[in-house]
Amino acid sequence: MSEGSKNKVKVQNPPVTDPRPPTPGWPGIIEAYRAFLPVTDATPVITLREGNTPLIPAPALGRRVGRGAQVYLKYEGLNPTGSFKDRGMTMAISKAAETGAQAVICASTGNTSASAAAYAARAGMKCVVLLEQSAGAIALGKLSQALIHGATVLAVEGNFDQALHLVRKISADYPIALVNSLNPYRIQGQKSGAFEVCDSLGRAPDYHCIPVGNAGNITAYWMGYKEYHGCGRIASLPRMIGFQAEGAAPIVRGAPVPEPKTLATAIKIGNPASWKGAEAARDESGGEIGTVTDEEILEAYRILAQEEGVFCEPASAASVAGLLKKAAAGGFTDDALIVCVLTGHGLKDPDRALAVVEKPTSIPATEEAVVKAIGFS
Ligand SMILES: *Cc1c(COP(=O)(O)O)cnc(C)c1O
Repeated sequence: MSEGSKNKVKVQNPPVTDPRPPTPGWPGIIEAYRAFLPVTDATPVITLREGNTPLIPAPALGRRVGRGAQVYLKYEGLNPTGSFKDRGMTMAISKAAETGAQAVICASTGNTSASAAAYAARAGMKCVVLLEQSAGAIALGKLSQALIHGATVLAVEGNFDQALHLVRKISADYPIALVNSLNPYRIQGQKSGAFEVCDSLGRAPDYHCIPVGNAGNITAYWMGYKEYHGCGRIASLPRMIGFQAEGAAPIVRGAPVPEPKTLATAIKIGNPASWKGAEAARDESGGEIGTVTDEEILEAYRILAQEEGVFCEPASAASVAGLLKKAAAGGFTDDALIVCVLTGHGLKDPDRALAVVEKPTSIPATEEAVVKAIGFS
């Protein structure tokens, strides 16, 4: 329709697809790893240039682990919406756009909804999000993201597992695309994290430590490592070392947990969708899935912030809590190369940070008071 025509239909939100490369800078994970992904020329690429996150050396953690260990942090908090969920969401939303979907739906502990809302906005789609209603279930940053991106946010009187059950049913019964990690394109996109780790190191790590919630990410990383190994880009495979929160550890216990409990809300899941994928990653890699307590998670959260200068959300710190626990038990070989995934940014959950530190001290506006307060007098 021409600009001047009378009965102009106003397209509210036309999809924003990027031009194909060459474009300046990092193109996002679909263009970067197109050969490994189920996309074609018919797939509109909906991207916020996710991926290419830093692999940060963590010397203080290396010293704590000992035995010559080299530790790196894959800091996924630097994705566009602040978590690794963007890697899968660019794929899920692009594939939904390819089929002409007008709307998407997900259940979320927070980060999936933030990511789905952002990518749906960019694609000109409606986004519906089901969250757990109970107090504190969703971190403040995540909720604000879903809302500002214009998603319809519904607080379900039930837990995440019940919300997931609902969205599965609704997406089967109505024309609305499911973008939870049950959507196979999510896992496809998320495997790009493993590619980046290998591209940065020039090899695979010996150990890969990762928090486990719904278990899509551990499944995806293992898929990525196996694919790189299969085509000869890496000569060895890492052991996959997953960690669940003590109060939400169905895979470790071998049975669903009806009322999961942990302050690490992003992994507060009692019946993981990718349970089998996580077990396969563990068993095929000669790895393990263990538990960490909330106290261990908060200790790792504080060490990361105060000794490495890296602020992640509590669920992310589960990988490092597990690293330290396993190291204390002598669980690593000498000179091990270890990657810990930090799945989300610390600013997602500022309330938690404020709860574990001392509040600022009030002082009079005088030099004397400042000098006294910082111990110079
Ligand atoms: C989603 C999420 C997890 C858990 O990942 P799964 O794929 O569900 O195992 C961990 N940490 C953060 C920050 C998350 O957003």
